[in-house]
Amino acid sequence: MSTIKNQMQTELKSKIILNKARNHAFEYIDQIDNMDVFPSDENLQRLDHFDEVLRDNGCAADELLDTLHTYGSPATVAQTGGRYYGFVNGNVIPASLGVKWLTDIWDQVGGLYVSSPINSKLESVCERWLKNILRLPESTVAGFVSGTSMANLSALAAARFQILKNLGWDINKKGLNGAPKIRVIAHEQVHASIKRTLIILGFGSDNVEKVPADNQGRVVVGALPKLDKSCLVLLQAGNVNTGAFDNFDAVCDLANKANAWVHIDGAFGLWAAATESMSHLTKGMEKASSWAVDGHKTLNTPYDSGIVLCKHPDALVSAIHATGDYLIHSEQKDPYLYGPEMSKRCRAIELWAVMKYLGKNGIDKMITGFNERAKQLAKGLKKIGFTIHNEVVFNQVLISYKEDTATNNILDYVQQSGRMWCGGTIWNNRSAIRLSICSWMTDENDIIETINIFEKAVVSLTKKTTV
Ligand SMILES: *Cc1c(COP(=O)(O)O)cnc(C)c1O
Repeated sequence: MSTIKNQMQTELKSKIILNKARNHAFEYIDQIDNMDVFPSDENLQRLDHFDEVLRDNGCAADELLDTLHTYGSPATVAQTGGRYYGFVNGNVIPASLGVKWLTDIWDQVGGLYVSSPINSKLESVCERWLKNILRLPESTVAGFVSGTSMANLSALAAARFQILKNLGWDINKKGLNGAPKIRVIAHEQVHASIKRTLIILGFGSDNVEKVPADNQGRVVVGALPKLDKSCLVLLQAGNVNTGAFDNFDAVCDLANKANAWVHIDGAFGLWAAATESMSHLTKGMEKASSWAVDGHKTLNTPYDSGIVLCKHPDALVSAIHATGDYLIHSEQKDPYLYGPEMSKRCRAIELWAVMKYLGKNGIDKMITGFNERAKQLAKGLKKIGFTIHNEVVFNQVLISYKEDTATNNILDYVQQSGRMWCGGTIWNNRSAIRLSICSWMTDENDIIETINIFEKAVVSLTKKTTV
């Protein structure tokens, strides 16, 4: 008899391990409001505890969980509280967290219908629902990937396949050597993930035809070069600094006349299309060929949730073509055909949970709330002397305080405060601070407290200069 099997079976059946994990998790939930939003230096130092050599013999599972909770939990970034404004991180909606726990127990492999019929079913449901709330064309298909980085990669691979096909070149057979040139059109403000994708796919950063952007980071439509069928045009729904949206309507009309491919990176911003008050920002986006969006940012699904949407299913499926005699195709959706992974988590189930839990109205209300909080924050900060660089059209607020040194000192102060966290950036050659409202937890009181912290930071500044 294998003793390790007996041991694990006991751990599983007695629920001792899962109970332990649950107790630690519950304690974490109860502590979240009192935790430092970014871990203290002391708690970061304690991470050195993990610097041990791998021992010959293992340890008890509950001991390991205790260690992780003792040293790991206090060193987490408390982004599930109400005052984390870094990057565009989002939170996790409890209903989807519950679903994640259950599906973790299932341990399904989401790649094929035959490896997880429930995942295949819910991917199809999510695809239908997404097309509906984002108002996308009927032919659109969805691939459920790890994030917008993979969604961008998948969409641009589809674009590359289709553009070359239109130019008489089969990339799957002939590869890139000697292929006709694809013209990549993008403005200076494209996201780092797009730049990385262009490098991975072999377009090369020097080959991008750069279009000027305006003071909000939107493409200047009049400055676009003449488009033709070799063009891949990259647009953005939600600039990471300002939250601004490109003019999809005008650019897509120009591109479609030329038979060019338009891709929209809408990692967090595409969800504006699901709201009543902000859908004007995405006007005309349905005229693009492909879109990338996250579940894990604005929609607050658990992490590891991105979606590639493509109007040309053949292009997407062909571009990430996979074959193998052992792959059993089904009449139902085989998820691996629509994204680059084979074995994958059943992440669409968590997305399904959020959409089902909130419904169309709940999604609209949550996202509109982010915009309301962002406006409240901008207004309060302006009152105490901050410059607001952006029109707060979505959930981002971009600020500075007088000259760069003051802005940097204020950023240091708020980051060290433990009561909130946000990051810095450079905007128009100036130091700036960016705040992203994208957590269901953040309410009006969090914003009031956040403004208070900034006010204290300003006071500390005057103290500094008078000393
Ligand atoms: C976050 C982000 C990405 C990358 O998405 P991941 O989900 O982190 O891979 C791409 N584009 C924009 C505009 C983003 O905000």
